[in-house]
Amino acid sequence: MLKNTITFLGTGGGRVVVFRQIRHSGGMWLNLEGVNILIDPGPGSLVRIFEHGFDTRDIDIIVVSHRHLDHSADLNSVLESASESKKNPKDVLVAPIDVVEGEDPILLKYLKDSFSQYVQLNDQTDFEYKTIKIKGRIKHIHPGAETYGIEFHSGNKKVVYVPCGKFHEGMLEGYSENADLMIFNTTFPHRTEKYYHLSADDVELMLERYKPKKAVITHFSLAMLKEEPDKIAAKLQRKTNIPVIAAYDGMKIQI
Ligand SMILES: [Zn+2]
Ligand SMILES: [Zn+2]
Repeated sequence: MLKNTITFLGTGGGRVVVFRQIRHSGGMWLNLEGVNILIDPGPGSLVRIFEHGFDTRDIDIIVVSHRHLDHSADLNSVLESASESKKNPKDVLVAPIDVVEGEDPILLKYLKDSFSQYVQLNDQTDFEYKTIKIKGRIKHIHPGAETYGIEFHSGNKKVVYVPCGKFHEGMLEGYSENADLMIFNTTFPHRTEKYYHLSADDVELMLERYKPKKAVITHFSLAMLKEEPDKIAAKLQRKTNIPVIAAYDGMKIQI
């Protein structure tokens, strides 16, 4: 398996695109220094993992940014598969508390012993695993789900994941600058008051602020697909001078 790569199992976002599978969903498979991290196992994750030649048994860590189903629907299926029905528990689950307990958790009680360690994701999370670190960042404004930004650091690589949420000024303070890769869940082309998601306008501000070496936009709604993600990525790149790539289903990039 290629070291320091990320594969986008799905790139859909928003109700229509994910739940009518106009684009695939299922999250991202990140390999950082040989550690395999499955991020946001949304609907279809289990299927896409095998489709793209991965094996759930190779997963070391599962990370869930928040409990909305487009990010977590396949968590239980992937855990059942990855742990070989709990015979070989996975090492770590990193997720906000409302994914694993409370009134309406995503994680089935039956699968609580399908991983060895639970790490609570919040804006203070700082967790070391082998040669990498996973850090929780800014709390996002995203109703119905505790949601946090997440960074993945190794000795010489930094990957920053900015999940869903309405843009707020606090998002311009707290993420790492000059990351090797910054991934933005860019659900809409333009800022709108009524949606609690990031737009390409917000991403432009964050690119200017954090100056990553490379950026990927993903998690597209119908509105985004209509305006063509490639064109929006090109426009962001022109404005910021930072290489910006629009993700497509199955896209793999070297970090
Ligand atoms: Zn969400
Ligand atoms: Zn989402």
